[in-house]
Amino acid sequence: MISVKHLAKSFDGLAVLSDVNAEINAGEVISVIGPSGTGKSTFLRCLNLLERPSAGEIRIDGIDVLAPDTDVRLLRQKMGMVFQSFNLFSHLMVIENVILGPMHLLHLDRKTAVARGMELLDSVGLAAKAHAFPDELSGGQKQRVAIARTLAMKPEIVLFDEPTSALDPTMVSEVLAVIRKLASQGMTMMIVTHEMRFARDVSSRIFYMDDGTIYEDGSPEQIFNHPKREKTRAFIHKIS
Ligand code: ATP
Ligand code: MG
Repeated sequence: MISVKHLAKSFDGLAVLSDVNAEINAGEVISVIGPSGTGKSTFLRCLNLLERPSAGEIRIDGIDVLAPDTDVRLLRQKMGMVFQSFNLFSHLMVIENVILGPMHLLHLDRKTAVARGMELLDSVGLAAKAHAFPDELSGGQKQRVAIARTLAMKPEIVLFDEPTSALDPTMVSEVLAVIRKLASQGMTMMIVTHEMRFARDVSSRIFYMDDGTIYEDGSPEQIFNHPKREKTRAFIHKIS
C-alpha cells in the first residue's frame, strides 16, 4: 500500500533521514520507536508532504507522491495525521471541527456530514460533547476529537505522531484505548510512540529508528525480546 525507497531528508545540509526503506501493507499497525532526534517525526511528515523529502521515492497505492502534479489534498485525505498537540479549531464546536473537512474536501452535505460526525464522536465516547468548544474538554477528550476528525476524512492510513505525549498520565489510557479499537477494526496505522507496552501489544510490526534510518524492522517479539543490532538492544534495555 505504501512503499518508501531510499528516502532522504536534510535540513540546511544536515542529513536527518538517509536511505529509509519501508513497505507498509493494508491492515498493518506499525509502531515507530527510537531515541529523540532520530527522525521519527520527520519520516511521518515526509510521507504526507508536510516536509518535502530531499531524495527518494514514496508510493501510495502505486501513485508517486513526489511527482510534481500530485494532489496534496487527496494525499492527505488518504493519509490522515494525528498530532501530539491536537490542532483543533478553538472557535468551532467539536462537531464543527469534525465536519469541516468532510464538507469542504469530500463535499458531503451538512446533514450527512453531521450524521457521520456524530457516529464517529460516539465511537470515541464523546457524542455528549458534540456542542462543546475544545477549551471545555480535557486533553484526552481533545485528542479523541482529533482522532474522530481524522477518521471523518475516510483515510486509508492514519499516522500518529506521539498522540499521548502531551497528556496527563490519567488521560493516556483513554486515547490508547481508541487506537486499540481502531487496530482491532483493521485500520492501517503508523504510530510514533514512547508507550512501549502499548507498542508491543498493539503492533504487527515495529520500526526502530536510529542514525536517520529504520535501523531495525521486525515483529514486537523480535524487537523487544531478540533485537538483532546493538543500538536496538541498548535502547530497549534502557527503556525497559
Ligand atoms: P522526538 O522523539 O524528540 O520527537 P524525532 O525522532 O521525532 O524526535 P525529528 O523531530 O524528526 O526527531 O527531528 C530529527 C532531527 O531533525 C532533529 O535534529 C531536529 O532538530 C531536526 N529537524 C526537524 N525538523 C526540522 C526543521 N524544520 N528544520 C531544521 N531541523 C529540523
Ligand atoms: Mg518527534
